Amino acid sequence: MGLPKRIRISDKFRFECTRCDLCCGTGPNVSITIYDAVRIAEKINVSIDDFLRFYVKVVIADMIPVMLLPGDMKGRCAFLGFSENGKTYCKIYEARPMKCRLFPIKIFKLSGEELEIDEECPGIGSGPEREVPKELVENYRKELKMHYEILHKLIIEDGLEPIEALRNALNIASYELGKEMRKGFYNAKS
Ligand code: SF4
Ligand code: SF4
Repeated sequence: MGLPKRIRISDKFRFECTRCDLCCGTGPNVSITIYDAVRIAEKINVSIDDFLRFYVKVVIADMIPVMLLPGDMKGRCAFLGFSENGKTYCKIYEARPMKCRLFPIKIFKLSGEELEIDEECPGIGSGPEREVPKELVENYRKELKMHYEILHKLIIEDGLEPIEALRNALNIASYELGKEMRKGFYNAKS
């Protein structure tokens, strides 16, 4: 595999989704932030505790809990739906994770001009010329920073074990997001 292609936030790129399902249907599973998790739990109408128990896979890496959307044996995302006409769709589209909203653009650092573009996506290079969705990039970076800051504080400073910290962090995110949603800040943008 070659080095990922870099793109600047001010660049334009050609992209038209071919609906090939490579991004949703072949893994690896999408990692999500506490804010993604709260939006998804709200969308599917389950409590934070039930979401943690039944709808997400949690991996602990060096004391830090990482939430992944579960997938099937073929690596298809658990939220990928199949309609009668054979087309696929995202069952949580309005609440899909920031990573999915941004794809094929990817974030590899939390500040600066540089981003990555996933060249395995067959939609790259065709279709209309587009701008990088800057506001979405900045919102995702902001949420990622808060995600790690909150978990870091709960685990390192307060001494909670990782799953307990994650549950507390989700409750904090739920409270914060409730305030922001009322202001319209976190409406889905793609
Ligand atoms: S991999 Fe690219 S072209 Fe294929 S479904 Fe995903 S965004 Fe669309
Ligand atoms: S959440 Fe939706 S958009 Fe994201 S990988 Fe799953 S099916 Fe695809």
